[in-house]
Parts: sequence; C-alpha cells; structure tokens
Amino acid sequence: MNFEVSELTGQVAATARDFANQYIRPHVMEWDESQEFPLQIFKQLGELGLMGVLVPEEYGGAGLSYYEYNAVIQEISKVCGSIGLSVAAHNSLCTGHIMLFGNEEQKKKYLPKLATAEFLGAWGLTEPNTGSDAGNMKTTAVRDGDSWILNGTKNWITHGITGNVAVVIARTGEPRTSSNCTAFVVERGTPGFAGGKKENKLGMRASETAEIIFDNCHISDAQRLGEVGDGFRQAMKVLDGGRISIAALSIGIARGAYEAALQYSKDRHQFDKPISSFQGISFKLADMATEIEAAELLTQQACDLKIRGEKMTRQAAMAKYYASEVAVKVATEAVQIFGGYGYTKDFPVEKFYRDSKLCTIGEGTSEVQKMVIAREVLS
Ligand SMILES: Cc1cc2nc3c(=O)[nH]c(=O)nc-3n(C[C@H](O)[C@H](O)[C@H](O)COP(=O)(O)OP(=O)(O)OC[C@H]3O[C@@H](n4cnc5c(N)ncnc54)[C@H](O)[C@@H]3O)c2cc1C
Repeated sequence: MNFEVSELTGQVAATARDFANQYIRPHVMEWDESQEFPLQIFKQLGELGLMGVLVPEEYGGAGLSYYEYNAVIQEISKVCGSIGLSVAAHNSLCTGHIMLFGNEEQKKKYLPKLATAEFLGAWGLTEPNTGSDAGNMKTTAVRDGDSWILNGTKNWITHGITGNVAVVIARTGEPRTSSNCTAFVVERGTPGFAGGKKENKLGMRASETAEIIFDNCHISDAQRLGEVGDGFRQAMKVLDGGRISIAALSIGIARGAYEAALQYSKDRHQFDKPISSFQGISFKLADMATEIEAAELLTQQACDLKIRGEKMTRQAAMAKYYASEVAVKVATEAVQIFGGYGYTKDFPVEKFYRDSKLCTIGEGTSEVQKMVIAREVLS
C-alpha cells in the first residue's frame, strides 16, 4: 500500500475543502437549527463532479477512485457532517448500486443524471421493524405479468422525500428463506410511491431522513436491478463500499472536532497558562491524533482493496467500526477540552458531538460491524 497522497487526490481534496469553506461553513448552524435540507448545495456539488465521484466518465461522472472519494467525504464532513452524509448516501448507496448492478440501459438512463445531481438519489433497505435484521423486511414486490406491485414502508431513508430516484430492496420470496429479496429502481412521481414522515434528529439535521411509502406502486420489470432473488446479496455488496464512506464521514467529523480543540487548547488560558500545557489536556490531544491516524490507515487499506477489486468486507467493516467509534470519542473529548463553552452552540464542537453518533449507527451499527468482522475472521 502506498501511503503517499497523489497529486490528483490532493487536488480533488482541495476542491472539496474550498467549496465546503466557501458555501457550506457560513450556513452550518442555520441549517442545523432549522433542519433545512439545502438542495441547492448538492446541485452545486454536482457541477463540480462531486455527486458522481466514482461514476465513470462515459456515464458523465468524474471517473475518480475511492482515494479521491474518501478525501471528498472527509473534507466536506470536516465542515458539516450532514452534507457529508448526504453526499455519501447519494454517491455510494443509490448511485453505487446502479453502477454495480444496473444493466447498460439503466446505467445510461440514471447515472448521468445522478452524477450531475440533476437527480438526487435515495436507497431504501431499512424498515420500521427491520434494521440490523434487514433481511426480514416486510416490503413486498409481487409480480404481475410484465410489472411488479410494491407495497410497504421503508424508514430512515436519506433523501426519502426529496430524492428523485430510489433504489429499493423488496421481498419477492417467502419470509426467512434465502434469495427472497430483489432490488428495483423507482422514480419519484410513480403513482403509489411517496415520501412520508421526516425525522426530527439529534444530529445530521441538515441531511433529510424520511420514510418512503409504497402503496400498490406498479413498476415495469425494466426497473428491476439484476436477478430476481439477488437483492439482499447486492445490498450487502453495496454496503461494503458504503462503509468506506461512513468511515470517511467519521474521520472528517473527528478531524473537525480535533482541529477546533487543538486550537482552543492553545488559546484558552487557566492558571496563567494555555490549557494545552497541562498534561491532562495534551494527552487527550495525543490520543485523538493517534486514533484519527489509525482510522485513516484502516480506511486507506479498505480503499486500496476496493480499487484493486479485491474482497474487502472485513476491512471495510473494520474501518467503519473503528473510525465511527473514534469520531464519537474524539468529539466527546473535544467538548471536554472546550469546557463549558463546548456545551454551547457558539462553538462548533457540540455539533460534531451530536453528528458523530450517527456514524456508529448508520449502514450497520458497531455491533453489526463486529458481527461481520467476527464472521470473517472465524470463517
Ligand atoms: C440519519 C440516518 C440515516 C439513515 N439512512 C439510511 C438510508 O439511506 N437507507 C437505509 O436503508 N437505512 C438508513 N438508515 C438506517 C440505519 O442503517 C439503521 O438505523 C441501522 O441499520 C440500525 O437499524 P435500527 O435503527 O433498526 O436498529 P436495530 O436493528 O433495532 O438495533 C437496535 C440495537 O440493537 C443492536 N442489535 C441488533 N441486532 C443485534 C445482534 N444480533 N447482536 C447484537 N446487537 C444487536 C444494534 O446494534 C443496536 O444497538 C439511516 C439511519 C439514520 C439514523
């Protein structure tokens, strides 16, 4: 593995960093307080190619690799986790699923629109009663000649209301049997397909999270992604890549919190000294810096394997598990370093603290990551 950041990755990171500082940073707290989902930002990111980072150029994307994708998510999340989460869900879940499992016609139809953010993408696996146990889903797709009829509710779906197109996994076989789920791509505006309740969240408040509801929604068989019965396997494959993006999101949040705390520790004086001169504080910073770098190395390893087309289920789960726990720990310590000021909305660390917790939950909780890692190491 090469540890050097390539010139290309550096340039792409700089583009994302400049954009985040200029267009996102000034509005972070306003969007957080109002839970506004700033659609326009994603359109602008689309113009820069950052909504189709991994999409090949022939389909209108930037044609970049997981190294650049990791850098983009980190730079944006360092400024605002909510925007980072939405960019990640759009790129690696919805778009990633169509890239991996769509046929040529589906790729030509959807990827150029997703890559430019003309379309915003959603991806629906989770349901009210089936999160970690996603394979036990209740949403069904029943064949009706050349079409399918979808019924059921997905929840916690990023862009559930605003998304123009959703990849949805539905049950097409008997409950608790193997190969009983199939993936479909459904367009907003299809009768019987609607967004539902929007969640009022602890953090990631500018990222839209909502239900999607299917009520006798008829779609053509041309909307099916891959083979009947292959949906769950596809979803797990998509999540392998998605977990790299949640690791990147976690590292971005951790770096944002760490850098704010590092600066504050030099500026804040108590007992006539900067608080960074106290070992109790400097050791916290040492731990934070070390754990962020370790998370970065695990994530780079998963990126490297993904780029080389090798199996990386274990490494992606390790990166996601470790980086997300680091994000929560670093953000918590950052609030501690800021003392009482860290507990207010006048300083950025309380938001990092709230946003970080999503990272240990979304795209598989830490417990689920440990199940995946344990299965891999025991196999
Ligand atoms: C902001 C946000 C955005 C999201 N975006 C999307 C999206 O775009 N698309 C999508 O499909 N989903 C999305 N999700 C859903 C997310 O993936 C689920 O919340 C997550 O998988 C956990 O499922 P759950 O919430 O139902 O928790 P549960 O599965 O009910 O888990 C509850 C607790 O039990 C633990 N647990 C469960 N099973 C086991 C076990 N066997 N062993 C040990 N512990 C266990 C869990 O780790 C957790 O601590 C999103 C969630 C959030 C909060």
